[in-house]
Amino acid sequence: MPSIKDSLKNSLSSIDDAARLFGKNTDDICLVAVSKTKPVDMIKEAYEAGQRHFGENRMLELQEKATALTYPDIQWHMIGTLQTNKIKYIAPYVHWIHSVYKAKQLDEIEKRAAQNNRIIQVLLQVNISDEDQKGGCLPTQVPDLLAHAEPMEHVVVRGLMGMAKFTDNKEEIHTSFRLLANTLFHNKVQYPKLRELSMGMSNDYIIAIEEGATMLRIGSAIFGGR
Ligand SMILES: *Cc1c(COP(=O)(O)O)cnc(C)c1O
Repeated sequence: MPSIKDSLKNSLSSIDDAARLFGKNTDDICLVAVSKTKPVDMIKEAYEAGQRHFGENRMLELQEKATALTYPDIQWHMIGTLQTNKIKYIAPYVHWIHSVYKAKQLDEIEKRAAQNNRIIQVLLQVNISDEDQKGGCLPTQVPDLLAHAEPMEHVVVRGLMGMAKFTDNKEEIHTSFRLLANTLFHNKVQYPKLRELSMGMSNDYIIAIEEGATMLRIGSAIFGGR
């Protein structure tokens, strides 16, 4: 097993290679290191190697880790299922929430962010895989959610998030990611500031880069299997 520093370096250089190959700018692609289930010491190691963005999928685990690691420039990303009644626990710490797909979640984030005098950046999760258990709204529901968030002062919707089906069929993965990219493209007409496309994990991030990802959520390739 290579060190975290080496795994990070390998991931970054493969992201760079893919970006070049597909004519994208590496500076437009943010690597979110998914540290779920991994101990704080491993996050520290990644931070010391220069990594700043970390993703967690459980709300209390994010709260616990953010409390333990108080680097001023660390950025916490919530990428897993949101329980509305627990948003208050992450509101003081979280910078990005990728998994929002209901108006009442937006309302609660707005309320808790305001209480903490913070702005929280949000991505709307879209179901691009036809698998119910992955959550997310339909592409056709995005405009209503954007309109709902528009007047909010402590929530800024920055883009969309999606997960492809877990499959070896590359064409199917391309199709899913293209659907997310097209959904962003159509909504940009009315909301030109939307830009983030959070898509791509350890097994499919190269395809995601080809389809225009700006945020990659990579866990096992950096921290090892879970
Ligand atoms: C766990 C997880 C990832 C990272 O998965 P890896 O296969 O370990 O890279 C990305 N996105 C979400 C939503 C996850 O839950």
